[in-house]
Amino acid sequence: MIKKLLIANRGEIAVRIIRACRELGIATVAVYSRADRDALHVRLADEAVCIGEAPARESYLKMERILCATVASGSDAVHPGFGFLSENSKFANLCQRCNITFVGPGGDIIDRMGDKSAARNTMMAAGVPVVPGTTEPVFDAEFGKQLADSFGYPVIIKASAGGGGKGMRIVREPGEFIRMFETASQEARNAFGDDSMYIEKYIEHARHIEFQILADNYGNVVHLGERDCSVQRRHQKMIEESPSAAMDEKLRREMGKVAVRAAKAADYHNAGTIEFILDRDKNYYFIEMNTRIQVEHGVTELVTGLDLIKEQLRLAAGEKLGIRQEDILLRGHALECRINAECPERGFLPSPGKIGTLHLPGGNGVRIDTALYAGYTMPAMYDSLAAKVMTLGRDRGEAIAKMKGVLAELEISGIETNREFQRRLLSEPEFAAGTVDTGFVEEVLAREA
Ligand code: ADP
Repeated sequence: MIKKLLIANRGEIAVRIIRACRELGIATVAVYSRADRDALHVRLADEAVCIGEAPARESYLKMERILCATVASGSDAVHPGFGFLSENSKFANLCQRCNITFVGPGGDIIDRMGDKSAARNTMMAAGVPVVPGTTEPVFDAEFGKQLADSFGYPVIIKASAGGGGKGMRIVREPGEFIRMFETASQEARNAFGDDSMYIEKYIEHARHIEFQILADNYGNVVHLGERDCSVQRRHQKMIEESPSAAMDEKLRREMGKVAVRAAKAADYHNAGTIEFILDRDKNYYFIEMNTRIQVEHGVTELVTGLDLIKEQLRLAAGEKLGIRQEDILLRGHALECRINAECPERGFLPSPGKIGTLHLPGGNGVRIDTALYAGYTMPAMYDSLAAKVMTLGRDRGEAIAKMKGVLAELEISGIETNREFQRRLLSEPEFAAGTVDTGFVEEVLAREA
């Protein structure tokens, strides 16, 4: 087993990983930038190493510094969390070369799935349904338009290297294609230094359904059911739940099998997520695979009773999967609301700052993952996720009722948050009915305007 783990991340996910390590008796090393001296993960880890200046490219993205800190601290493994270096194949390969266990799949697998256009082809070859679209990267707007014309509108233009909704545009009219393609590829160039694009048919009124999978190094793969992440703003998830109100046991079994097949086709190991789009007629299509732990992993933990971080650590250490598919039972219904430091009234402008009073509700079936504490100043240069509020109910209605109570009680003063907006979403009749699709948040916002 791993003896000492360096956590190449910050915020609530770093805290989450430290807690799992404590349970397993693994010593922890935090890394931090100068802006994070007072961060909770630094306080909670057994040791902490400063790796550079505040901007992430000077610290959390500096591979050499992180590797030096790993070696110098005598750590035998690195957990990358999500974001930062978590899907960087070069970093995964460097760890391997330095004889450090990278908690995740190998660099070759990250590459195979990280190019989203190539990943589509791998999935097609394995018989996994994908959204109709291009099979080769597209660089030229005119050529892209010819392809889009042949698919029929609407289409969605995406960056092969994409993530976080960047470099993505929905095109409804042929006349808008060229302009949209150009802005999307410009955005992709800026964000990822790579402007290879691909085009898919845009599925209207879709739901985002993703399957959590776990795979060991010996070819064993299980799925842990689905998460419904249809409540999104600008393709960024806001509320996640498990199970999905759109699924039944038959569809779950079928899609779960396909997700396992997809993971096997990628020769995957460790924890990963297969993302699908589900249309109104319950047709499903692969859209991408995430080769890391997800922000929303907690809802799966609540309904399965498993600890995904501990599973990741065991799998990375080379242990065999200790669970069979038939052992995995989903119990109850879990919900997660992402509380961000942002101001919905001002176009969701990030609004970090110093936390005054902090009251985090507790109680039966309540879990809050956060790195906030009273008096802490959230730095402005990192993402705005402030707290992940989760509830577990016997059924969906109970999970929602609990969430409403928790959000009403939650108190985070000193910064603006989207809490009231989340409460608003929860009280919409469509949300209660479980019929929302990925257009829901925009519809609510349009109604307000
Ligand atoms: P990213 O990696 O940037 O998050 P994804 O490919 O995962 O990008 O897509 C993000 C979201 O965009 C999905 O959850 C879904 O809401 C929407 N989306 C992506 N592809 C399609 C599609 N072909 N049809 C409809 N919606 C889509």
